[in-house]
Amino acid sequence: MKNNFLIVIISGPSGVGKTTLLRCLPSENFYFSVSHTTRTPRKEEVNGKDYYFVSKEEFLRMIENNEFLEWIEVFGTYYGTSIKEINKAFSQNKHLVLDIEVIGATRLRNFFGNLAIFIFILPPNLEILKERLKKRGAENETEIEKRINRAVEEIKFAGWFDYIIINDELEKAKECLFSIINAELCKPYRNNKWKEILKNINK
Ligand code: 5GP
Repeated sequence: MKNNFLIVIISGPSGVGKTTLLRCLPSENFYFSVSHTTRTPRKEEVNGKDYYFVSKEEFLRMIENNEFLEWIEVFGTYYGTSIKEINKAFSQNKHLVLDIEVIGATRLRNFFGNLAIFIFILPPNLEILKERLKKRGAENETEIEKRINRAVEEIKFAGWFDYIIINDELEKAKECLFSIINAELCKPYRNNKWKEILKNINK
């Protein structure tokens, strides 16, 4: 595990731009956890990269075997973070990034303690969110309505998070994300170098 190890947990409504925002983090330093899901892959999605796409039977078997750190069912679709996936990040000497919905996020607070920071990505308003979902073209009108209703419920949790980023302009949102991460990496418990400096001073 990296000695300044950081876990970034990102939540926010579907279509708010979490994936685009997270792509700005360099993959040399950040490991993006790949969740399991029973959802049908979208056109551009790749198995093992965007998600591990599995059948409901396989997902239920994994729950039974305690293979998930957390999981949830949303609109009849299952999503979960496997323990195996988290261990991969630990072994790669990278920071870990999780993109999960709010209930899953709240379940991980006690588990990760102060190693993790929780960031909520907020749309400037619901109209823009709806437009973004339509533009993505992955869901029909009914699905979009469901996602908007869920967005309203998720936004109620925003105050629980350590940070909120409003994704109005992508560049500004990226800047905000970098600032948060840089500040977190300067926390004394993530940066042991000051102890070495102090040791040399006291010699
Ligand atoms: P989508 O179907 O748009 O890819 O994802 C729907 C929601 O599921 C998003 O809010 C996403 O963050 C969340 N999600 C994806 N993977 C996981 C996971 O492993 N656990 C939990 N709790 N939520 C997840």
